Amino acid sequence: MTIIKCGKFIAIGGGDHIGSSSYYLEWNDLRILLDCGAESNNSSIINVQKTLGEDFNKLNAIIISHAHKDHYGGLFNNVFSDSHRIISTPITKQKIRTCMPHNNLRINYIIETIYTFDYFEVFFAAHGNAQITFLPAGHIDGAAMTLIQIDGKKILYTGDFSLPLSTCEPFIKQTLKLIRNLDILIIEGTNNRETGHKSSIKHARFNELYELIKFTYPQKIFLVHQNENHGDENPLKTKIESEYYILEFIETKDHEIYYLNTVN
Ligand SMILES: [Zn+2]
Ligand SMILES: [Zn+2]
Repeated sequence: MTIIKCGKFIAIGGGDHIGSSSYYLEWNDLRILLDCGAESNNSSIINVQKTLGEDFNKLNAIIISHAHKDHYGGLFNNVFSDSHRIISTPITKQKIRTCMPHNNLRINYIIETIYTFDYFEVFFAAHGNAQITFLPAGHIDGAAMTLIQIDGKKILYTGDFSLPLSTCEPFIKQTLKLIRNLDILIIEGTNNRETGHKSSIKHARFNELYELIKFTYPQKIFLVHQNENHGDENPLKTKIESEYYILEFIETKDHEIYYLNTVN
C-alpha cells in the first residue's frame, strides 16, 4: 500500500466564518480557486496571492459560484493575469455586471473576460485533464454547485445551496445522478447547527445538509461557510461520524493546509 500525495485544500477565506469565501483546491496538475469573495461589509479583502505564493500564477481556473459579494467581491482586488480563466454561469456574470460600478474600466474589463457555461455543460481545465460541470444550486438565480471530475475522482463544491432532494423535476434528478458517490464534498454550513442561528430560506437547513451528505456518500468532507462556532461540538459532524465509519469530517479553518492523499 502506497500513499500518494495528490494535492491540497486551503480555505483562503470563509472557512470558519461567513464572508470572503475563497477555496483553493489542488489535485495533481489541477489548481483551481473556488470563489473569491469579500467580507459582507467590505471590511477586509483576502489576498489570494499572499496565501498561495507561486501557485497563484499556476491557477487553471477561478470559479465564481454565484453573484453574492461574499463569493465574488474579492475578484477585483486580486490581480489576475490574462492567463487566469474566470468562469461562472451566464446569469451570474450578468448579475455581477449589473451590481458593479460601470465607470471603472478595470472592473469592466475583468467582468467581460469571464467565461460562461450553462448548467450541465461540461468544460475542461488543466489541459483537458479535469472535467468540470455546473449544477443548479437553488440558492439564487444562476447559483451553481461545481462538480469536478479528475483521475476517476469526484469532488463537489456546493457553494451556497438550497437543493430540494425530493422532487421529480428533471434537472434535480439529473443533478442527483451526477453527485452520487463523491470522493470529496466541500459543503457550505450556514445552517449546520440545529440550534442557534435562525435558519435562512436560501440555505439548506440542518436536515438537508445531512440528507445531501448521506446521498452523496463522500469519503471526505470540508465544512466551510459556517457561522462562528465557539469550540462546542458540531451536531452535524457528530451525527455523520456516528453513522459513517470511513468518513473524515473537517471543520475548515482559514489558511490551514489540508493535504489530500490517495492510496494505491
Ligand atoms: Zn450566497
Ligand atoms: Zn455566501
